Amino acid sequence: MMNNYIFDFSLSDLENLVLSWGEPEYRAIQIWEGLYQQYWDDPQEFTTFPLELREKFKDTFTFRHLEPVDQVQSQDQKTKKVLFRLPDRSPIETVLMRNQNRNTVCISSQSGCALGCDFCATGQMGFHRDLTSGEIVEQVVHFTRILNTHQEPLTNVVFMGMGEPFLNYQAVMEAVQRLQHNQGMNLGARRFTISTVGIVPKIHRFAREKTQINLAISLHAVDDEIRSSMMPINHRYPVSDLISACKEYISLTNRRVTFEWALIQGVNDSPEQAKDLATLLKGMLAHVNIIPLNPTEGYSGTSTTQERVKVFQSILLDQGITCTVRKPRGIDIQAGCGQLASQIDLK
Ligand code: SAH
Ligand code: SF4
Repeated sequence: MMNNYIFDFSLSDLENLVLSWGEPEYRAIQIWEGLYQQYWDDPQEFTTFPLELREKFKDTFTFRHLEPVDQVQSQDQKTKKVLFRLPDRSPIETVLMRNQNRNTVCISSQSGCALGCDFCATGQMGFHRDLTSGEIVEQVVHFTRILNTHQEPLTNVVFMGMGEPFLNYQAVMEAVQRLQHNQGMNLGARRFTISTVGIVPKIHRFAREKTQINLAISLHAVDDEIRSSMMPINHRYPVSDLISACKEYISLTNRRVTFEWALIQGVNDSPEQAKDLATLLKGMLAHVNIIPLNPTEGYSGTSTTQERVKVFQSILLDQGITCTVRKPRGIDIQAGCGQLASQIDLK
């Protein structure tokens, strides 16, 4: 029973395990509370356990897959990004963004990404592997521990780090369930946002989950030719299929969809494109999130000027489409995911 990674276990997995040891079932909830309410990271901290059981516990579980190998902090100290290596040396990145009343952790669902969007540093590095549910959970636990030392709560979790969450669907959903557990971290579903490049069959599936997890779609272009040139997955799931899936999601859940749009000079920032976007989204329960492009090494595109951002936004607002411009966060620390990993030798 060596090397079971404890964050991969659900509460019922733990219950089955302690029962198989001949221990009472309540031991499982003690473990759970230790992990997700006390944030203990070492079997020795479970001092309520008899010594013999603590030894067994120590022999059975590993408590850590994430080894921090590099980190950067923005000048204003509000954004901190950590590059971890997993036991097989695969890299992942996790970012903590602190605000007055919001502490958001931006987590990875895969090491690397196979989808190759041209502006994305993670896409540029290629795919290593899917994360396990526990490796997703541990990223959140890691930053919750840090926030705790400042007496601050974690308020939001966004899947906007490395990887495409809907191509690691099962592990992502299990991780969210574990983090939501009311005898553990008790993070409500509305605190989570899954950002997807638009894997249409998974949007259909997600729409049927009856969950309050927020959905964000990386749209970036309305025209199929332009979108395919930026995001190769568009060949497989073109804009019309993607928008129909979003409409179905909205009608089944009555929840708003956020569309992400990274404005790139001369690629997707013209007033005509803003009008086309407004036409496409008209009447939908939709919100547009304009993201300033983070320049990456493998991409020649640059971000749009402030003036053009304003024009783009006002066209949407005039058409009644709500739209926010995300503040550039931690550009000085390459906060765009994949950007730190791509700077160091990964081999
Ligand atoms: N694979 C998922 C989630 C991870 S990317 C997805 O694509 O949605 C999270 C968001 O960051 C996406 O909207 C993505 O398009 C955007 N993004 C990627 N690279 C970026 C860059 N260099 N500048 C700005 N946004 C970027
Ligand atoms: Fe993958 Fe998302 Fe980056 Fe595209 S934008 S390469 S889907 S992580």
